[in-house]
Amino acid sequence: MIPIRLHARLDAASAAALLLVPRALGWPSRLRRPLALAGLGVAAYSLATRYRDGPGGGIGLDQHRMLDAAQGAACLAAGLGERAPGPRAFLTGYGAFSLAAAALTQPPGPRGVPLSAAAVAGDELGPDLLRLRCGIVNVAFIGRPEAGDRGWFLVDAGLAGAGPAIRAAARQRFGDARPAAILLTHGHFDHVGALAELARDWDAPILAHPSERPYLDGTQSYPPPAPEVGGGSMAELSPLFPRGPIDVSDRLQDLPRDGTIPGLEGWQWIHTPGHAPGHVSFWNAARGDLIAGDAISATRQESLGSAMLQIPHLQGPPAYFTPDWDAAGKSLRRLAALRPERMIPGHGPAVAGPDFLAALDRLAQDFDSRGLPAHSRYLHQSPDRP
Ligand SMILES: [Zn+2]
Repeated sequence: MIPIRLHARLDAASAAALLLVPRALGWPSRLRRPLALAGLGVAAYSLATRYRDGPGGGIGLDQHRMLDAAQGAACLAAGLGERAPGPRAFLTGYGAFSLAAAALTQPPGPRGVPLSAAAVAGDELGPDLLRLRCGIVNVAFIGRPEAGDRGWFLVDAGLAGAGPAIRAAARQRFGDARPAAILLTHGHFDHVGALAELARDWDAPILAHPSERPYLDGTQSYPPPAPEVGGGSMAELSPLFPRGPIDVSDRLQDLPRDGTIPGLEGWQWIHTPGHAPGHVSFWNAARGDLIAGDAISATRQESLGSAMLQIPHLQGPPAYFTPDWDAAGKSLRRLAALRPERMIPGHGPAVAGPDFLAALDRLAQDFDSRGLPAHSRYLHQSPDRP
């Protein structure tokens, strides 16, 4: 990672190089002029950049990095089309350098709490609870294998394209039995990707918190993401992620207000807003089993590498998609106070045992220093909530 102060110096050096190198090396004016203009452009947007956080006008750091990446890509393309070896080497080298600087200058994301390997549990968390990893996100099955038709529940529905894998895992565990319902922790794209398809195939109702309904009945999109939270390329790419809404209103039902789940003994839902207004977690008090959804993560979801490799690390919700940090902190403390013994998070491995609980306590106690990202447009203000 490149510190922001160093990045500002690199910007000044870039502008100078674009202006001076072609002139010093006596390149023809067909190269000198556009490169001098590019150098002036870099100088201009760098001078207009707010390199520090805080209020004030000018260009924010993430916009600045977009400009770095854009002019870097343009120089790289121009270099690859250039015949003369000197300018070709300069342009491709400079372009690659700008792209790298844009990619590497980002805040580190929420600090979180490291999790030891001892805290990682297998996918089978008990006779009636199974985690299925679908790429960068988890789904959970609640119910014993012999539960029978309409005797089990699916929690969340993964990314688009996860349908066949979820159906295959369901068939392996429950045979031809269909679920009683699909329960949703929230409606983000990586939790509802295969939802419509699975609900239709199984002719199953979808249960979600009423505050999540606008994102599930086609009326409202989620607020814009906050790529400035940093932490890696999942945060970087978050502006490209779908924000909905989807429309599954024909099968959508509200979770009952009393916290119960119809047909599911021993489990209750708990409202855990912050990451999404109608975010819920599912809790079995007798067994200490928690399906946290995105209220708690067990890997650094901001980093694509971490999300892919499932490197254990305890954090709050995926930071780029969390618009209400005050509520997110309260929700996480509420779940920690339940003293869960096992947890299936929305992201990262299933975790269990005393090491997990100690990490969760630490994260709950130090949420301000370990749970929050250093930067986010939503840190000191929340978007209007319905
Ligand atoms: Zn989410």
